[in-house]
Amino acid sequence: MEQQLPLQMDEADVVRPLWERALRRMERRLGREAIQTWLRDAEPLSYKEGVLVIAAPNGTARDWIEKKYGRALAEVFGDAQETSQPVSVEVVVRAQAPEKGRKPARPKPELPRQAPVSSLFAPLPLNEKYTFENFVVGQSNRFAHAGAVAVAERPGRHFNPLFIYGGVGLGKTHLLQAIGHRLQEQNPRARVAYVSGETFTSHFITSLRESREEEFRRTYRGVDIWLVDDIQFIADKTSTKEEFFHTFNELYLTNRQIVLAADRPPKELRLMEDRLRSRLESGLMAEIGPPELETRVAILERRAISEQAAVPSDVLLHIASMIETNVRVLEAALIRLLALASLNRTEMTVELADRALQAFRQEGRIRPLDVEAVRRVVCQQFGVSEDELLGERRDKKTSLARQVAMYLLRTHSEKSLSEIGAALGGKAHSTVLYGCQKLEQEMRRDPSLASLVRRLCTQLMGSSNK
Ligand code: ADP
Ligand code: MG
Repeated sequence: MEQQLPLQMDEADVVRPLWERALRRMERRLGREAIQTWLRDAEPLSYKEGVLVIAAPNGTARDWIEKKYGRALAEVFGDAQETSQPVSVEVVVRAQAPEKGRKPARPKPELPRQAPVSSLFAPLPLNEKYTFENFVVGQSNRFAHAGAVAVAERPGRHFNPLFIYGGVGLGKTHLLQAIGHRLQEQNPRARVAYVSGETFTSHFITSLRESREEEFRRTYRGVDIWLVDDIQFIADKTSTKEEFFHTFNELYLTNRQIVLAADRPPKELRLMEDRLRSRLESGLMAEIGPPELETRVAILERRAISEQAAVPSDVLLHIASMIETNVRVLEAALIRLLALASLNRTEMTVELADRALQAFRQEGRIRPLDVEAVRRVVCQQFGVSEDELLGERRDKKTSLARQVAMYLLRTHSEKSLSEIGAALGGKAHSTVLYGCQKLEQEMRRDPSLASLVRRLCTQLMGSSNK
């Protein structure tokens, strides 16, 4: 009966909604990971006269919360309940078992997503966007995608372990987490643990430092599906590698599904001793390559839709042809374009996209066009010889070819006007500037010329970024 419950319960019930609200704000402020790791298992006990008392699951968590989040919590909590009264935070260690007859202060989620034993070794939360539904399949990732789907449908059966590798920003993390989401949907009781090589290493080191190896092992070996991202970051220390191998083995031998991702193939991983390598060979290895143009366009289209932005298809194509090797950068370029367009209240054009891409070029994320390649491609396109291009002839065809070369180098290389002039047969920098302006004018008047220039650019980008 409610009124016979200890007074503290009522207080906890009052404080809980405020606490939840404060946590959401904290999450926005500090990121989900910190909150999930440290505050998820904390419990608000009471809030009286400006003092918020919360319970942490153990001493480490208490110290950590106090030290790292005490101040922020106090602020956010004050904000969340719209009071100007200063709030102070007290963290206590939660009593082990709740008193008999008292309902637990916070119902434990029946289906823990995280491994149950220890919050100290909690896996990382999954990003809700990284689902199979949001993954665009193309030639470059078809195999890895199919492997991931197969594993998610029948974990521990066919491909164990699944090893996905490929360069940065190609969708490895996305696929790993998509497996996690799918498994969780199908079997909410499955203990899905997603960690990175770094997390594993740091958990292991913590367990040694705090003499909690037992707990570490129980946590790690109690998972049903183990998704380990970026295993190249597993520390090069023998003891960490050993522990990784033991965990791997234990899970493997008990038919738990293991999925690993790395930025390089197994034979280049120092982590891989023969015994681990031979285990991998009994599973499935799938490489993800850079997405081809159509896939990049499809990714951008999807992203534009999710941003509720109507981006013209020639603009999407333009961005997709500029950025070849990293989907994260590809998406960032689109976002930058959307920001520019909304800031300047202008239409999204290829020119605006170029401005958005400028920054990326400066950061070296897009390789500049190569002078010789530009000369060659332009000559071929307009049917002029290199001598004519570099010379002084002023007929229409040669002038246009020259302007296009100038424009391409001006917009897609790191070169200054004088350097471009020098690369095109020693023209003055003012000539280059004039040539570029002239061409821009022409392109505005003549869409077919604009699209020709764009095509050349795409072609050049394609060859220079290989
Ligand atoms: P990696 O782990 O290989 O470095 P990520 O999985 O983090 O790469 O991918 C980088 C970004 O690109 C993420 O936002 C991801 O959602 C997106 N992405 C990568 N590949 C695809 C794809 N095929 N379809 C949709 N989005 C993708
Ligand atoms: Mg990743």
